[in-house]
Amino acid sequence: MPNAQNWRVVDEPVHEPADGEVLLKTLYLSIDPAMRGWMDDRPSYLPPVGTGEVMRALGVGEVIASKHRNFEPGDYVSGMPGVQTFACVDGNTLTKIDPELAPLPKYTSVLGMTGMTAYFGLFEIGEAKSGDTVVISAASGAVGSVAGQLAKIAGSRTVGIAGGPEKCAYVRDELGFDVAIDYRNENVYAALRTHCPNGINVYFDNVGGEILDACLGNLAMHARVVICGAISQYNAEDVRGPSNYMMLLIKRARMEGFLVSDYYAEYGKAAREMAAWLREGKLHSHEDIVEGIDRFPETLLRLFTGEHLGKLVIEVAKPS
Ligand code: NAP
Repeated sequence: MPNAQNWRVVDEPVHEPADGEVLLKTLYLSIDPAMRGWMDDRPSYLPPVGTGEVMRALGVGEVIASKHRNFEPGDYVSGMPGVQTFACVDGNTLTKIDPELAPLPKYTSVLGMTGMTAYFGLFEIGEAKSGDTVVISAASGAVGSVAGQLAKIAGSRTVGIAGGPEKCAYVRDELGFDVAIDYRNENVYAALRTHCPNGINVYFDNVGGEILDACLGNLAMHARVVICGAISQYNAEDVRGPSNYMMLLIKRARMEGFLVSDYYAEYGKAAREMAAWLREGKLHSHEDIVEGIDRFPETLLRLFTGEHLGKLVIEVAKPS
C-alpha cells in the first residue's frame, strides 16, 4: 500500500508555456487505480513515474495562457496535468470540453477515460448484447457503475459484485442492476450459481483474484471475460493468477485484456452516445469529490479500501 511518506509537496514558480504548450490551472483530478501501477518500477504500457517526478494524473483544467493554435485563455480542457495546481502541457495531448454540455467533473468520469473504459470494454471486448447475463465486479465504482448501466441499456441482465450491504443497495436501487452480490459477506461462487442459472455470458473483471476465479467457475458456453483491471492484486507481493482458467477450454470461452487508450480515435463517437444517454436520464454518474490537492495521498488509498461511491475526484480549484 502506498503511504504518506511516498509523497512530498514542492513549491515551484509557474513558467510560461513554450511553443505548442498550454498553461493550465488544474480544476479536477481523476483518481485512478492505474496510478498505483505507474508507481511500480517495472515495464508497463507507460514508463513508471520516477522518484522525485510529479505524480501522473488525468484531469480537467482551465487554460490560463496558450502557445498552441487550438486553445485560448478561458477554454476548458481534459488531459494529463499531473498532481499539481498549474501545469504546462503539450497542447496536442489536450481535448477541449464543453461545460454547457455537462458539469466539468463528469469529464473525469462518465464522459472521460472512465466512461470510455466501460463502453469499449463492455461492447468491443465483451460484445455484450440483449439477453446476455453480464457480471461486473467493483460494480459501485467508477468504471463498474457505468458498465452496469450500459449493459442494461443494451438489454442485458446485470449482476453486480460489491463490498458491503450499502454498496449493494446502491448497485441495485440506484444503478438498476438486477442483482447485487456482497463479496464481503457472501460466497461469491455460490451466489453466482444461484443468480446466473444459465451461466455468465460476459464477465467484466475489475478486481481479479478470487472473484475472477468464482466467475470463471460459472461461465456459460462461449462466454467473454473482459480483463479491465485487477485491483485486488495491485498492492500484492505475489500476484495470484486464476486457478480456474481451464473453464475457458471447457466453455470455449475467451478472456481478453484491453487498454482504453487503444480506442482513443473512437472516443468522440462514444462520448456523444453517452452524453445523449445522460441527457435522456438513461445513464447516471456519481462523482465523489474531495476538496484540496493536499489530500491526494489519503484519497488515493480510498480506492483500495473501497471508501467511495462512483468516481473519486479531487477538486483542486474552482473554475474562474
Ligand atoms: P473504482 O471501481 O472506482 O474503485 C476501486 C474499487 O475496487 C473500490 O471501490 C472497491 O470496491 C474495489 N476493490 C478494492 N480493493 C478490492 C479487493 N481487494 N477486492 C475486490 N474489490 C476491491 O475504480 P475504477 O477507476 O472504476 O477502476 C476499476 C478497475 O478498472 C481497476 O482495476 C482499474 O485498474 C481498471 N481500469 C482499467 C482501464 C483499462 O484501460 N483497462 C482503464 C481504467 C480503469 P468495493 O468496496 O466494492 O470492494
